[in-house]
Amino acid sequence: MTGRCEALIVDLDGVVYTGGERCPGAAEGLQDARAAGVALLFMTNNASRTPAQVAEHLGSVGVQAAGEEVLTSSQVGAAHLAQLRREEGLEDADPLVLAVGGPGVLDALRDEGFSAVTAAEAREAEGTDRPVWALLQGYGPQMMVRDLHEAAHAVNAGAHWVATNTDATLPTPRGPVPGNGALVAAVAHGTGATPVVVGKPHPPAYRIALQRLGLPADRVLAVGDRLDTDIDGALEAGVPAALVLTGVSTQEEADARPEERRPQHVAATLPDLAHLWR
Ligand SMILES: [Mg+2]
Repeated sequence: MTGRCEALIVDLDGVVYTGGERCPGAAEGLQDARAAGVALLFMTNNASRTPAQVAEHLGSVGVQAAGEEVLTSSQVGAAHLAQLRREEGLEDADPLVLAVGGPGVLDALRDEGFSAVTAAEAREAEGTDRPVWALLQGYGPQMMVRDLHEAAHAVNAGAHWVATNTDATLPTPRGPVPGNGALVAAVAHGTGATPVVVGKPHPPAYRIALQRLGLPADRVLAVGDRLDTDIDGALEAGVPAALVLTGVSTQEEADARPEERRPQHVAATLPDLAHLWR
């Protein structure tokens, strides 16, 4: 990073909150950055919630945020498909996209101007001759096995398959449960196909975050609590990275990495990074 950073790409779980608990200093640190004129972009691999729902949850832990300051992996997936639509010259062709997952998946596709259908709608439309051009698969707590069947039908028929993220587990108050990665693996196992994955640590997440911010990588700081997603993804995209020790990864794990894979900064809490934006 050259000089003071102009924007933060902020991970949520383990950085701002853990479950319903606030991470120490996070709300104050983010307020301080905002007061210093730094733009904030909250980037989450959670695909099931809409940006407005994420912003509302942030408000409940003392962090004021607008929906426009949230980038979900569903939005990254929809933006990736929009780019593919342009590359294939289909801007005017209105290709059909299947949304498998929570409301965040469907909303993100419709916001990109896609004609998107849920798995239930696709089942109803079965027998019509409009093929599914692409499938966006993210997590949704209401998902059913037959939604995965619909995903498999689309994949087997040759649709583009994009997964919002492949996190193996989701944290819950009772411990980890199978996350989107487990459900994507079910479709992969049942079809023999492999999806394109867009969420952290995969490059589309950071590329689209930088596009949203309108800044080059070296004027931005990515803040996260996981070496294998937040930090790896940021470093791969050339974005300077800071590990905060309020979540999953530890100082020892950071120190044990080869130098080129270490975050540039490690901080006990978010406000300890304030010298980077003041
Ligand atoms: Mg996290």
